[in-house]
Order: sequence, then structure tokens, then C-alpha cells
Amino acid sequence: MTVQGLFSTRSKAAGRISSLPRIAIVGRGFSGMMAAIALMKSVRTPFHLQLFDPNSSVSGGEALASTRSSTILNTRVRDLSVATGNADDFNDWLCTNAEFRAAVPAAIPGFRQIFVPKQLFSDYVYRRFADALSARKDITVQVCHEPVVAIRRSHGDRFLLESANPANPLFDTVILATGYGLPANDIPEPEPSPIRAQRLVARPHTVLCGSGIRVVDQLLQLRDAGYTGQITIISKHGFLPQSHTPNSADPVFPADELPQDLPDIVRFIRAACRRAEEDGHSWQAVMNGLRKHARSLWRSLPARQKHQFNRHLRAIYDSHRNRLPEAMYARLRSELADGNTVLRRGTAGRRGLSGMFFRPAGSSTEEVIHAERIVDCRCRAPDLNSLLMRSLLAEGLAARDELSLGLAVNQRGELCLEGGSITDGIFAIGPLGLGSLPDIDLVPEIVSQAYAVAEAMEKRFYPRSKVV
Ligand SMILES: Cc1cc2nc3c(=O)[nH]c(=O)nc-3n(C[C@H](O)[C@H](O)[C@H](O)COP(=O)(O)OP(=O)(O)OC[C@H]3O[C@@H](n4cnc5c(N)ncnc54)[C@H](O)[C@@H]3O)c2cc1C
Repeated sequence: MTVQGLFSTRSKAAGRISSLPRIAIVGRGFSGMMAAIALMKSVRTPFHLQLFDPNSSVSGGEALASTRSSTILNTRVRDLSVATGNADDFNDWLCTNAEFRAAVPAAIPGFRQIFVPKQLFSDYVYRRFADALSARKDITVQVCHEPVVAIRRSHGDRFLLESANPANPLFDTVILATGYGLPANDIPEPEPSPIRAQRLVARPHTVLCGSGIRVVDQLLQLRDAGYTGQITIISKHGFLPQSHTPNSADPVFPADELPQDLPDIVRFIRAACRRAEEDGHSWQAVMNGLRKHARSLWRSLPARQKHQFNRHLRAIYDSHRNRLPEAMYARLRSELADGNTVLRRGTAGRRGLSGMFFRPAGSSTEEVIHAERIVDCRCRAPDLNSLLMRSLLAEGLAARDELSLGLAVNQRGELCLEGGSITDGIFAIGPLGLGSLPDIDLVPEIVSQAYAVAEAMEKRFYPRSKVV
């Protein structure tokens, strides 16, 4: 779906752009589109919005782009609303979608508990974006198909964005929504070097690297397409996503005060899961409860323990929070039980023309795995070495978070600098804040952060004195 058609008339009619506050959104993945929706719905004053992304389609970025439109999201419909204050918005939209209604069994009255294909969620986001835009005749929107390579402060408190177009104007506010960075095909792969690999298996062999939802997605896509060869999954810590419960598990969490120390916190959570299961709840309910405490817990941990968490516990935390719909989980288990798919714990190394190097966990020597195909399904961290990130850090407009996973941000998406000050006028939403805010890479958290940013902008452009 391209965005060009939707905006061309609107931007041409923009003779008065120069007098409007100018907002730039860098990145048009889910976070960027969500920021645009929240701004159009919450900021009452007219403004000019400019959306930058070399990717011309509204695919929803990394998460929602899929080689197959039927790939399922692993979050239930009830948690995917993009409307603040209306948790049923996605469900309501699905109910009005005749094609979808016809495709699901009539016995399902509403869709709150089900998992739907990514493409459907992408269509819903696009629809809500178009609705918000058509309700705002007073704003202008422009789409730019170039990456932003640098941002500098200019003319006092305004910002100059550098892209291939030398004529970019100054912006009053910038929202960074660059997520996991530019798509991999924009980053050149190193040339593979020849590997002397012995063919150990007589039939086709594919290696999938990664531990998350993507690796399971890729595995099931291969099988659905009729691939019968051997598949090896290489996971650094050996964890794969766990299963959802049949219906959403309401959060439960002990009322006792949480301990301060990481090892004690882990013991506390394990005990809570055990107790919940004894009481007829599930460990998933405890994980859902934990998510409500995750931000204050993370804030309270000293940097040393955050590093410890990242090294030793993040993989297991991710495998329990990013869960698979039950049916997908059952397929994964049966794949592994059949032996046609093998999980190996260790580190993927250099690729060659006929395979790749692999260092098993606990071993100091590498072995070679022969494979016709190697697919990297690892989730990339935000790229702090990109030109844009380097410029923000060099200009003193942003700082790395304590773990250097992304930029230091607060819940309102403001960029936090060393010493506790914030950069007025630049926000970052979504995975860029993953080192500062647990779970900020998930749809519900991105939605609330986008509305928090929009609320801050509403205050900025529409001070209290103007309210009648
Ligand atoms: C496979 C997968 C499945 C997921 N499933 C779920 C799920 O079921 N439920 C859930 O809650 N979450 C899910 N997530 C997580 C969540 O949806 C994503 O974290 C979220 O969509 C991130 O979107 P984003 O727009 O911030 O980042 P991205 O998707 O990375 O998009 C960033 C965009 O910014 C652009 N960009 C980057 N750099 C520049 C630049 N310098 N200039 C201009 N443009 C730039 C890129 O081209 C890209 O289009 C999933 C994630 C993945 C990877």
C-alpha cells in the first residue's frame, strides 16, 4: 500500500504551510504511523506534518511486513487498539469487515481473544490513519522518501533535518520513530567467503538464526510452502517463545513488596508463578502482572544489575513475554519432537558459500554447519551507529541509555540527557527506547507512548491560556 496517493492533493493545497508549526516524523513503521494518528487526533491546533522514510509502503515496518500476508500476530485483538480510551476499536473494525466476518466461524461472536494476520492489523492501522487525516482539513501532510541522515539545532530552538533533499525546511518538533533502523537490504552484507564444509546431511538443510517470534514464523512458513528438508535453529541462549493460554490470562501479581536485588526479584517471580499455578492460575498471568511493574522495577535497578539482566535474563524474559498462539506453539513442539527441526544453543559465526561457522554454547572451538540456505531471523537492536543516531549523539541532542541498547528516553518519549535534563522538541518512540523502558517495542506500549507525545505537543502548541 503506498502513501503517496493519499497525500498528494493535501500537500499541494498547502500554500499556508510556512505559518504552521512544523512537525517531522522520522520513520513510517508502526511507531511513526501511530505517532501521526495520535497527533491528528489530539493536537487541536493546525500543523504541518512531514513523514520521512525511504520505504514507500505502509507495511508497519519490521513487525508487520511479512513475506506472507497470512502470518499471524502474537498479540490478541483486544490488545491492539490504536484508539485511546476505546480498547474495542480493533474488534469493532473487524466486526464491520465483511470479508473477515465471512472467513471466521459464526460461533465466534467477537474477536477480542483471537490472533489475526499481520496484514489485517496493518490494514486497520492504515484505515485509522486515513480516517484521522480526512477528519483534519486544517493540517497539511507531506511524505518524503529519503532517509534522514542528520538533525541539527538551528535558528534557536528549531531543527534542521538533513536528507537527500537540500531544501528541507526547519521543524519545530521532531519525532524519531526509526525502530530497528533501515531495512536490512539497505545495509550491504559482507561478501561470503568459501568454507570447506563436508556435506553431513544427504537432504536439503536450512539454518535459521534467532530465538524469537520471527524464527518460528520462518520455520512454519517454510513448512507451509512444502519444504521437507532438515532445519536447524541456532539460538544463542537456547530459548524459543513460550505459549499463550487459550484465553487471555488476567494479570495476577503478589501484593508483597518487591525485593530490591535482581537475584531476589527472580526468586520472587519464580515463587509467584509456582503459587499461581497451585491456585489454578497460570504463569502467563504472573508475567502479565509483572509487565505492570516492569517500568518501576527497571528504573530502580542499578546499572550493574541492568547489565546482569541483559546478559543472563533478557533471553528468558523475552521467551516468556513474546508468546505464541497455542496452535503455533503446538506446531513448534511437534516440529522439534519429530527431529526434522533441531534447536542448537550457541553462536552463529561467519557465513561461507556452502554453510556457516557455529560455536556451540560452552565450547571454545567452532564447527562448520553445511546448509544450502541460512536465514537470519534475529531481531536487530536499534542501530546507534547509523548516520542519524551518530549526529544526534554528537550534537548533544540525545544520549545512549545505560546499556547502549538505544536512546535514553522517558515514558513521554522525551530524550533524556546526562545530568537529568531533556531535549526540548525531540521525542523518540518505540524500540529506540528499549534500554530505558521495558516492553516499549510492543504495540500497546507504543500506542500509549504515542498519545503521551501527542499530549505534550498539544500543550506546547495550544497552551492552557487559549482554552475557552
Ligand atoms: C516479526 C515481529 C513480530 C512482531 N509481532 C508483534 C505482535 O504480535 N505484537 C506486538 O505488540 N508487537 C509485535 N512486534 C513488535 C512491535 O510491533 C514492533 O516493535 C513495532 O512495530 C516497531 O515499529 P517501529 O515503527 O518502531 O520500527 P520499525 O518497524 O523498525 O520501522 C522503522 C521505520 O523507520 C525507517 N527508518 C529507519 N531509519 C530511518 C532514517 N534514518 N530516516 C528515515 N526513516 C528511517 C525504516 O525504514 C522503517 O520503515 C513484532 C516485532 C517483530 C520484529
